[in-house]
Amino acid sequence: MTRNDRPGLEPIETASRDEIAALQFARLRATLAHAYERVPHYREKFDSLGLVPDDLKSLADLAKFPFTTKEDLRRTYPFGMFAVPMDDVVRIHASSGTTGKPTVVGYTAKDIDTWAGIVARSIRAAGGTRSDIFHITHGYGLFTGGLGVHYGAERVGMAVVPISGGQTERQVQLIQDFKPTMIIGTPSYMMNIIDEFERQGLDPTQCSLKRGMFGAEPWGEGMRRELEERLGIDATNLYGLSEVMGPGVAAECIESKDGPVVWEDHFYPEIIDPATGAVLPDGSPGELVFTSLTKEALPVIRYRTKDLSSLQPPTARSFRRIGKITGRSDDMLIIRGVNVFPSQVEELILKTPKLSSHYQLEVTRRGHLDDLAVRVELKPEHAGAPDAVRQAAAWELQHHIKSYIGISTKIEVVEQGGIERSAGKAKRVIDKRPKE
Ligand code: ADP
Repeated sequence: MTRNDRPGLEPIETASRDEIAALQFARLRATLAHAYERVPHYREKFDSLGLVPDDLKSLADLAKFPFTTKEDLRRTYPFGMFAVPMDDVVRIHASSGTTGKPTVVGYTAKDIDTWAGIVARSIRAAGGTRSDIFHITHGYGLFTGGLGVHYGAERVGMAVVPISGGQTERQVQLIQDFKPTMIIGTPSYMMNIIDEFERQGLDPTQCSLKRGMFGAEPWGEGMRRELEERLGIDATNLYGLSEVMGPGVAAECIESKDGPVVWEDHFYPEIIDPATGAVLPDGSPGELVFTSLTKEALPVIRYRTKDLSSLQPPTARSFRRIGKITGRSDDMLIIRGVNVFPSQVEELILKTPKLSSHYQLEVTRRGHLDDLAVRVELKPEHAGAPDAVRQAAAWELQHHIKSYIGISTKIEVVEQGGIERSAGKAKRVIDKRPKE
């Protein structure tokens, strides 16, 4: 079989890099022209740099064009960046605002159709087929997660259970009764559901689920192992952000499980140095930047995601992949001069056998010095363990953090349920430092 006729895949997923580049170039030129002609913000920015869309003579020329940031969307709140009249907009979403005031995004009927197609492709990459019953725990509403995934799942032809987030006991009940074979949610909420299974005396490995897609927040290999072992499933990663489209900007393939594949026929990825803005070669660590290639209502040019990662070579598809997301540039804590990402601490927690993946970091300030405290729950099977056991787990984690990250921390090991649960993205950092 040649690379171009893999059953079930769209031809572009296995196309040559030249074909992909040609398509990207044509779509990029059209997108730049669309943004320049229809959005005053882009026209002013391009004009101030003496640029017109025709200055793009090659893909590399994109580096001459200005970045777009969340602040640009906030400044033009709510609809100032829309490139079509409101009559042509059929859907509005807003980001959950985990990092500030919400940003508003819009879609035309064609955008919704494109998005459903990309999410359908993502679900197929994760092993989903029309024979699956799909349990969607992503929130429905202004958050792009629920509805975004829903339309793609219907496109695949799956039987969709749109339960949304929350009501964890009921989630378990419906999984027992409807016997879904596939599930989607944030990895942290999935852990809550697994804990609830166990609380009810049920063995989650015996449930009907075979596959799960997890995203909307960072997670790593430790979390994958735990999800796969505790649920008896294949777990894959789904990446996205509302400004660029929503879930489905990139998705991991079940056969390789080596990081989300960027759907490069719709989103042009770059990695930049977050400090200088310079474009970096593939493989280098830096900030992910995306330019939409097919969006009508809200074209985004060089949108700075703040997500720190790298671009990796193609494997299971012809498109490049996103490397491990090591954090967000705005998530980074600087504790006594040491850069700390919550994901690094998470990895060490998961390496400590008695500790669970429910944790929270608290940053406080004493004088001019910042302190980091980690609150983490014991695994359910160690419930009620004597103080000495908890103390030993705390010391072990403290020692790991000191030797791998290089900072001293205060660790508090609490009982199951001691950390506040969220039905969506987990709140990992409580920053109690006075605002400057
Ligand atoms: P906000 O969090 O600002 O409300 P979104 O809901 O659109 O905005 O969330 C997008 C962000 O969520 C991404 O920029 C990224 O930081 C995070 N995210 C989404 N999917 C993943 C994933 N698979 N791995 C890591 N982080 C992710």
